Amino acid sequence: MTYNLSTLNGEKITFLPEKGQICLEDARFLLVSADGLGTLTKDLISTLGRDRAKGFLLRYGWTCGYNDARIAQRQNPDHSELSLLYHGAYLHSLEGSTHVNVLKAEINLEEKHCLMESTWSNSHEAEQYCRHFGLSEELVCWTLTGYASGFASAIFGQRVLFREVKCVGMGDQYCQVICKPVEEWGTELEGELDYFTESKISEELEEAHRRIKKQNKFLKQVMGIHEELNRLILEGGHLKDIVEVVGNTLGNPIIAEDRYLETLAAWAEPGKELSSFLLSSIEPASDFIRKQLAIIKREKKTIDIICKDHSLLPRTVTPIIIESNVYGYLSIIHSTKVNIELIHLIAERVAEVIGFILLQERMIFETENRFKGKFIR
Ligand SMILES: [Zn+2]
Repeated sequence: MTYNLSTLNGEKITFLPEKGQICLEDARFLLVSADGLGTLTKDLISTLGRDRAKGFLLRYGWTCGYNDARIAQRQNPDHSELSLLYHGAYLHSLEGSTHVNVLKAEINLEEKHCLMESTWSNSHEAEQYCRHFGLSEELVCWTLTGYASGFASAIFGQRVLFREVKCVGMGDQYCQVICKPVEEWGTELEGELDYFTESKISEELEEAHRRIKKQNKFLKQVMGIHEELNRLILEGGHLKDIVEVVGNTLGNPIIAEDRYLETLAAWAEPGKELSSFLLSSIEPASDFIRKQLAIIKREKKTIDIICKDHSLLPRTVTPIIIESNVYGYLSIIHSTKVNIELIHLIAERVAEVIGFILLQERMIFETENRFKGKFIR
């Protein structure tokens, strides 16, 4: 079935330079260059990132389409919904966005049925995208699909979405779209609807600022610990000095144990029972801990141990390595809320320093023994 679009109002463009206006029937429009919009899109993507820009342009297109549909309904009160859908396709072409060729259009308000399939040629959006960014791995006609979705939703009275199945921006010869009610798209729309929800950039920036301030505080702590550790090494500090400095700065218990889980050094706030933090207080009963330690030993990496049965406080455990072998384990207990990433950094640095001190002690011991041997001979 074809529709004679000339029977619809809303297709007569009037230029009124004396008033500084362009009107499509009684609605005011602007003549904007495609290059100008392309530059705006490029700047939006560069400034806001692709996802944000996509959401912004989809919502912008939706509003334009929705408003055009309302004008079309007002100007053509006697026309069927199907005829108005075709009119939307025509307006999309008339406004210079893309040439629409409707392949299929069905709408039945009572049965809540709406299906439309079209091809789009000469999409100005795909053209501009490719001009600025080259070919894309994803569909790029965001304003256009937003417009068509907004228009059809206004006519249908419920939210319907146009989605591209082909796009010139991805190297296809033309763009192709399908329109269905949101519910009928099902899981295919996963994540897509989020783009239609306005997010306040100012709130997100505020949140990012709070995060950065917090991370700065942690970074200062890390730098402070780093400097203290360097000082202790230069002054010939012992293991107990190391764990005390780090524990005091963090406010979290810290324990160094050898591979047989003999305590090398430990620190906890005065009044706290240290023995309850030791891995040996759980071992050898816990298979779970044994398996976790085996992973650390095998992969020589830091892990966070969290017991589901709460028999052990959550902790970050990192290997103490001497000459490529795991000599023991350093645990930082999460007795307060911790920033995992930074605790890992600190734990690994402390384990390095402990490894260095233990190696130094071993070398001194061996050297002394060699001298003793020579002296005795
Ligand atoms: Zn496209």
